[in-house]
Amino acid sequence: MSKKLFIKTYGCQMNVYDSARMADVLAPLGYAAAATPEGADMVILNTCHVREKAAEKVYSELGRLRALQAARAAAGGRMVVAVAGCVAQAEGAEIMRRAPNVDIVFGPQTYHRLPEMVARASRAAGGRSAGVLDTDFPVEAKFDFLPEQAAPQGASAFLTVQEGCDKFCSFCVVPYTRGAEFSRPVADILAEARRLLAGGAVEITLLGQNVNAYHGEDADGRTWSLGRLIRALAELPGLARLRYTTSHPLEMDDDLIAAHRDVAVLMPFLHLPVQSGSDRILEAMNRRHTADRYRRIVGRLRAARPDLALSSDFIVGHPGESDADFRATLKLVADIGFAQAYSFKYSPRPGTPAAALEQGVVAAAVKDERLAELQALLAGQQQAFNRGFEGVRTTVLLERAGRHPGQLVGRSPHMQAVHVAAPAAALGTLAAVRIERAHAVSLSGRLESQVEHAA
Ligand code: SAM
Ligand code: SF4
Repeated sequence: MSKKLFIKTYGCQMNVYDSARMADVLAPLGYAAAATPEGADMVILNTCHVREKAAEKVYSELGRLRALQAARAAAGGRMVVAVAGCVAQAEGAEIMRRAPNVDIVFGPQTYHRLPEMVARASRAAGGRSAGVLDTDFPVEAKFDFLPEQAAPQGASAFLTVQEGCDKFCSFCVVPYTRGAEFSRPVADILAEARRLLAGGAVEITLLGQNVNAYHGEDADGRTWSLGRLIRALAELPGLARLRYTTSHPLEMDDDLIAAHRDVAVLMPFLHLPVQSGSDRILEAMNRRHTADRYRRIVGRLRAARPDLALSSDFIVGHPGESDADFRATLKLVADIGFAQAYSFKYSPRPGTPAAALEQGVVAAAVKDERLAELQALLAGQQQAFNRGFEGVRTTVLLERAGRHPGQLVGRSPHMQAVHVAAPAAALGTLAAVRIERAHAVSLSGRLESQVEHAA
């Protein structure tokens, strides 16, 4: 009989991808995915440390799981609870100390060892283990030990090409939780892409914390850039759409910019975080570029692909941010014009350089005001961008059922969510859709022709 595995995923797309791979690793042990934690044999919380109060949220979830563990034990079973991801990496043994109901804690670089950890946790006397902790940055490459992707990911699939980061932005935990930059070999990526396409994917999103820093080796030992990798992937039969995320402005090289001009399947949407429009703050953040350099990169990208839609990340209230610095961010946003964006109030992450700064801390109320002003500007830009599509015919990859019966939801080439009345049989296909209405963060339209094979 198969065992029930419930994975709760927090945070970014890399975590979504990692969760799918954890399920792949556990499948040979008889674990099958369950939709809820009730009655599960194993629950994994795959955590993210980037957001505020991430660790506290994990502890409260662990508290809630205690009741389910007790119910499972009363029924004569056992629910193994594991904490994975970046909170696990950062907190380590502290999790086991604060939440004794946790059996396993493992970081993002060790989940290929999960079967061994599960065996150790299950062998523990009295059904309660002393706890298995594995937050190494091991010398062996995780990807060499993972099984081929088993679970089909659907029409739109993720493919991790790069992990980790050496940029050390002042505010960010990623270099500490995900480790140094590592690029997967070209052959492995091409093989995984072929498997995804054979399994029904038509869109692939290349993932990496610093995806455009990709520098993987080919079989002859030559190093490929992301631009070159994109050109090779674009040749694969069946691939209609290609995307990549997340990029750093410093790594937008000529070849990658030219790929936006030359490669038709590369979608006209780019998430390129800038964080601030003030050179002083960009320097304090250790971003290693100026606001004008960002403007120039965007100018070159738009020259290569005039319909390119841009997205970004912003932080308000980094230590030292004055009102003039914040105005410079608003000016950058006004100059560039974003199709969508994520914006956050700065919050200190233990162990990062910015967290140690005692000078220039921005008051919470000021951060709130700045965030509200920035978000209003960004929301206006997003709505104006979306309104420009009313009456336009676009291509939508129909990915999932909508909230209303008979409705499907998909993505436009520019990453807008599009709601459309369509038969369930159209799921997973590219459809021509006439946009009828723009809403705050999505579009709705009418299906014109059901299936198209080009984006
Ligand atoms: N690698 C990407 C880059 O270079 O921008 C982003 C990685 S991070 C996982 C995603 C976003 O979270 C960042 O771009 C930043 O805006 C936000 N973020 C990270 N640390 C933060 C902090 N301490 N406070 C507020 N926002 C933060
Ligand atoms: Fe974090 Fe991105 Fe900076 Fe790396 S480049 S340290 S992942 S914000």
